[in-house]
Amino acid sequence: MKRMTDAHCIFCRIVAGEIPAERVFEDEHCLAFRDLHPQAPVHLLVIPKEHIASHAHAAADHTPLLGHLMAAVASLARSERLDRGYRVVGNTGPDGGQTVDHLHLHLLGGRAMGWPPG
Ligand code: AMP
Repeated sequence: MKRMTDAHCIFCRIVAGEIPAERVFEDEHCLAFRDLHPQAPVHLLVIPKEHIASHAHAAADHTPLLGHLMAAVASLARSERLDRGYRVVGNTGPDGGQTVDHLHLHLLGGRAMGWPPG
């Protein structure tokens, strides 16, 4: 399997097990773990194991992987019992508020969310 990693990337280091995280799901392509600074009762990060710097850096051949991440989010929302709904966030680039340069989806739930986001 093709797997590109960045030794300086904190999320690649979590994938590699070099930095601890509360892992809740993992398969060949993705990893989900609890956010260190949760913004809701349930706050998971779902990331590809392959290093992709952001959503904007995803290539055409990442399309199945992007779908896989979204399917993983739906499955995790079920296992986290987010029956009343949830929010999926993909901060991208400086204006998007991205702080870790490894593509990730936030799964937030367990409380009502406001709109518009900040
Ligand atoms: P973003 O601001 O969208 O790039 O999201 C990055 C998220 O990663 C933030 O919500 C951080 O709290 C979270 N985060 C950073 N380092 C860690 C870590 N070591 N373990 C778990 N979550 C982390």
